[in-house]
Amino acid sequence: MGAAKEMMLQREGMTGVAEEVAIAADLGERCEMHKDVFMGEFPDEELLVEAYKIANARITKGEIELPSMMSRRDFTDLIKEVVEQAPVFCPECERLFGKDD
Ligand SMILES: [Zn+2]
Repeated sequence: MGAAKEMMLQREGMTGVAEEVAIAADLGERCEMHKDVFMGEFPDEELLVEAYKIANARITKGEIELPSMMSRRDFTDLIKEVVEQAPVFCPECERLFGKDD
């Protein structure tokens, strides 16, 4: 397997962990009905900095274990990415309940 592909898989594997850090920093939340759906508003710079601090503290304490090809910087970039790409409303709920109002 190529390095780029391996790196991509490692990032995907850390997405849930990045979301947990974002939630701890108040950058988003999970849908009550769809626990795997992460939602958030476009991130505030100060909250992102807070999320990076939480991430670094958890890595230092060993609560988060980074995969072999991922640096702390890669992980904080991933946090920013998951928050920026998060939907404001749960897409699953929108699909279930419609938007016909
Ligand atoms: Zn939902």
